[in-house]
Amino acid sequence: MEEKELDLKLEKGHAVCFDFDGVIHRYSKGWQDGSIYDEYNKDILDLMLLLQKLEIPIYICSTRKPEQIISWWNKQGFWAESIKIEEDITFWNDLKFIGVTNKKLPAQLYIDDRAYKYTGQTVKQFMIDNSEKVEEK
Ligand SMILES: [Mg+2]
Repeated sequence: MEEKELDLKLEKGHAVCFDFDGVIHRYSKGWQDGSIYDEYNKDILDLMLLLQKLEIPIYICSTRKPEQIISWWNKQGFWAESIKIEEDITFWNDLKFIGVTNKKLPAQLYIDDRAYKYTGQTVKQFMIDNSEKVEEK
């Protein structure tokens, strides 16, 4: 196999934000009763660990209450514990813990299953990107 060196565009010391439902938590049946019922996504956990090893602070941002995610996370036996990001924190830069918040904080990258990457698209392009393909006759 050919080995290629990657030049990762992510910067050390600058946070990467992970969404919870549909990213960390598989969420295969949607919200249901609001419990965290599904298994975690191993690939995402591997990615979080790798980024943290590369000195990139990691936090989770979800509409869920942080306490619910923290309680779940800390029962899983992952490599790092999670902690709540306090209200007065603006930049998450802790490399020991996984931060959890329901407030959007700055990040160099947001990993979210519902995101649309905006790069200056027109209204028309947005509509095309978010429409089903219609077969031409
Ligand atoms: Mg989601």
